[in-house]
Amino acid sequence: MLARFDEKKNISLHGIINHRLPAIPFQYYFSVTSSGKFYISMNATLLFDIDNTLLKGSKSHRQAFHEGFTQVFGIRGDVEAINPHGKTDRQIITEVLTQNGVDGETIAEGLNECMGVVAHTFTELVKHEQLIVLDGVVELLEFLGSYPLLLGLVTGNLESIAWEKLQRTGLKKYFFFGGFGSDHSIRSRLVAIALNRARVHCSKAASYPVFLIGDTPRDILAGKKAGVLTVAVATGVYTQDELHRHKPDIVLSSLKPSEGFEDIIDQLRTAQH
Ligand SMILES: [Mg+2]
Repeated sequence: MLARFDEKKNISLHGIINHRLPAIPFQYYFSVTSSGKFYISMNATLLFDIDNTLLKGSKSHRQAFHEGFTQVFGIRGDVEAINPHGKTDRQIITEVLTQNGVDGETIAEGLNECMGVVAHTFTELVKHEQLIVLDGVVELLEFLGSYPLLLGLVTGNLESIAWEKLQRTGLKKYFFFGGFGSDHSIRSRLVAIALNRARVHCSKAASYPVFLIGDTPRDILAGKKAGVLTVAVATGVYTQDELHRHKPDIVLSSLKPSEGFEDIIDQLRTAQH
């Protein structure tokens, strides 16, 4: 991770530092601008989904939607009725309201307020919920954090909800940028938004291989549309066979190190520049 790179004594104006870590050689590309700003590039950028990829789905999150529908639009919408898996929060709100007969103009007028109610309600409800980190996730993030990889998020969660979930589960320290469901309703757009944010910290964030890791066909399709490599993990409602049908670059049964961990490393190795 960026925060772990602390080799300032080796900095020149532009250059490459070669490291040979166990089994895998890495190169750190860096430059210093005339204003003294320090940029560094990694070997790859990994963008993680949250729900059913890093964490189990949150009951508080689902309940928060219902509060938003009731308070802002006066309806009792059912999130499950529109198959929310892999959809952005903006998209979920719009689809549920549309299904309940709310017209587009009314939705547009109340969308921001609704997202605000959802975010606020989630913050209150989650205080009473024990969020669950999926098996292998901490081990994987710890391992990846010791390599020159840029770790970010591409999640349909509203931004405040995403960070709150990661904060409460101790995973926030691994990530510092992302694309969120409050940014856009179309998931594939979140990839570019995340990479633009990453460039603030790392000038070449998008010029190295980018992997999108998620649990649904919508994650895979978003990654393909955005032109990045896709890793599908069957820790949500979709099986490995179902995910395979959408032709991701890698399919894993989980993020446990024993379940295909080597595949990710192999991909990174072949992605060396
Ligand atoms: Mg998910």
